[in-house]
Amino acid sequence: MSHPIPATVPPGATVLPGHAGSAKDIRLQLRSWPEVEAYLARCRGVIVPLGSTEQHGPTGAIGTDALTAEAVALEVGRRTGVLVTPAQAFGMAEHHLGFAGTMSLQPTTLLAVLHDLVLSLARHGFERIYVINGHGGNIATARAAFAQAYGTAAARGLAGAERLRCRLANWFTAAAVMREARELYGDREGHHATPSEIALTLHLEPSLAAKQRPLPEAAPAGPIHGPEDFRRRHPDGRMGSDPYLASADHGARFLELAAAALSDDLAEFLGSDGSEGGAD
Ligand SMILES: [Zn+2]
Repeated sequence: MSHPIPATVPPGATVLPGHAGSAKDIRLQLRSWPEVEAYLARCRGVIVPLGSTEQHGPTGAIGTDALTAEAVALEVGRRTGVLVTPAQAFGMAEHHLGFAGTMSLQPTTLLAVLHDLVLSLARHGFERIYVINGHGGNIATARAAFAQAYGTAAARGLAGAERLRCRLANWFTAAAVMREARELYGDREGHHATPSEIALTLHLEPSLAAKQRPLPEAAPAGPIHGPEDFRRRHPDGRMGSDPYLASADHGARFLELAAAALSDDLAEFLGSDGSEGGAD
């Protein structure tokens, strides 16, 4: 198949001449349309941060999953020169709705949002959509959205439909991140409001350290069914985790490990036919 413009860009390449070196410069929000058009002549890849706005235990920030996904995305963008879109800060968090402050999209809503965002990007010629995700509850719906988007791109006859690929990269399940979390926290990493994700927020937003305090043993992770069942089984919102173990220094380390792993994965994604792999 002919491939007139390569989807690939070498890792670390300067995609936007004269503007390399700061996270600001790879933000789509700060580019003009002619700049994006020029970028597309060099690179068909783009990073979409995907988060969630949901409770993270009694001491964690509601925005944890969006803050972390965006921070990792911007760092990956800075390292690779690939554009980063605004974060999609709302995800599928129906099971957290028993806790104040949680804002959720139903699975069908999130599917429609991601589908529409992918189609918008594909229309301009983006062919490698790299979604950096901060929330496990988004995974099934994001995958369904990708499948739906491929079908729609083909049905609409978009020029790049056959080359369109989306990949979901969950920063928190990158092997190096999980290894570090296991070494630092052992079983107390848990499954929700984990010290690893809280550590990253402490690195990003030092004011959050004021919320940190020792907490009683959390209920262990297990099956849940809906928001009421979640709150009954996990009264303070944590699942087996001890976020008091987190520190900003740990967070800086997690950001480095996640950005390194996902930058490698993104470089492979841009250079491949996109049909396999993934950091998740
Ligand atoms: Zn989270």
